[in-house]
Amino acid sequence: MDAAWLRKRLELEKLMGVDALMLGPTQQPADAGVALELGAVQELVAVCGGCRLHQTRTHTVFARGDPRAALMFVGEAPGHEEDVQGYPFVGPAGKLLDRMIAAMGLERDEVYVANILKCRPPGNRDPRSDEIEACFPFLQRQIELVAPRIICTLGRPASNTLLHTSASMGSLRGRWHSFDGIPLMPTYHPAYLLRSPGQKRKTWEDLKMIALALQK
Ligand code: SF4
Repeated sequence: MDAAWLRKRLELEKLMGVDALMLGPTQQPADAGVALELGAVQELVAVCGGCRLHQTRTHTVFARGDPRAALMFVGEAPGHEEDVQGYPFVGPAGKLLDRMIAAMGLERDEVYVANILKCRPPGNRDPRSDEIEACFPFLQRQIELVAPRIICTLGRPASNTLLHTSASMGSLRGRWHSFDGIPLMPTYHPAYLLRSPGQKRKTWEDLKMIALALQK
């Protein structure tokens, strides 16, 4: 499945799917329709051979959480535990993310969590640009369907990808950006925080800005 074919397929699913399921005076897609559409995208991911990573994965890793969440976290790629289990953020970094979510006063399953890559890069190396390009239509469609009020990118690869920049996390975090009109706050990846606990205070400042914005 190459990237051009995938984009065409996702466009077709979009035309035939949730946009045709608009219900009610608010014109919001029905929750069931969104879940169905996400399920269809997940099925495409499960058989995707769009980049070299399909050759080394154990499982594809699609997402976890509420498909109509107000807050969506976007990380980098599955790690070892995620590749084995097929769920995002289930290893040590995931446990820290869960504590970060709880500290914001939210339930673990109240947010939506996904990655820019759905398959693990061998040895947890950084994602390559052609892998990101091949996989990005999946994330784009997830964002369209979930339609979060706020996106929080975790770490540099996710932040750089959604903001089309190569800037450092130090220069990006701590202030609002925008992705397709959705407010976006970049912060440090939990895996980085496990290695550099001194950065937790800055991350907490970012999360407090998100929690405040969600209350408005
Ligand atoms: Fe397909 Fe994305 Fe996995 Fe590459 S990383 S094989 S594009 S699902």
